[in-house]
Amino acid sequence: MGKYMIEENIMPWGGQVVTVQKKAIKNVYLKVLPPEGSILLSVPKGYSRKEIEEVLDSRREWLLSRQQLIRENARASVKRQYVTGEKIPVWGKPYELVVREVAGNRARVTCKDGKVLLLVPGYATRDQRRQVLNDWYRRQLERVVAAEKSRLESLVGKTAAEWRFRDMHTRWGTCNVRARRIWLSIHLAKQSPEVFRYVAIHELTHLWEANHGPEFKARMDRYYPGWRVVRKQMNIAADFE
Ligand SMILES: [Zn+2]
Repeated sequence: MGKYMIEENIMPWGGQVVTVQKKAIKNVYLKVLPPEGSILLSVPKGYSRKEIEEVLDSRREWLLSRQQLIRENARASVKRQYVTGEKIPVWGKPYELVVREVAGNRARVTCKDGKVLLLVPGYATRDQRRQVLNDWYRRQLERVVAAEKSRLESLVGKTAAEWRFRDMHTRWGTCNVRARRIWLSIHLAKQSPEVFRYVAIHELTHLWEANHGPEFKARMDRYYPGWRVVRKQMNIAADFE
């Protein structure tokens, strides 16, 4: 039992608070998590407080710039009101949102010339406008999955029984290995095509390897050699709004 126990501590560092997990691992892992940019550090069990501080100090610059990016991004998406003039991302590119009132109660979205046109009844609330757009993101993603899945599945050598889509806010995808069911976050349609590709391949690779061990990474290196770079970009640009 002891082997799997995780000891979690909160510790002050440079005017902020860091969560430190001590685990049965060999390497140090440092993460900055959206939306608040909180710092999560995982270290091997024997690490002393001094060693932990050294890790944090040596990465100080990286941590602070990462936090800044993540917070700016979170602010931009939190403030979104779904009104004309706002920027919204579609497949990694910023589009200008244009909201027009329509008579009746049918809402519609079209996208062209760098603009996303949202046609909604005048009484639509902010949350309803967001919902209409999210439904549209979902259809974008469904279409790309329908077009790409057989190519991705033959690349990885595994077939998902089902691809499904959900308004997930904390992760890009999950894989139910036993049911061979892959879930993707509809917010993937805001990210670049490379991010979609990375997440789809990542989830398919779980059909070979349940966890993220060395075998998993070796397979990812084979199926998508640039995955590490893409993963970094997407965590910075996370927009789950
Ligand atoms: Zn995974």
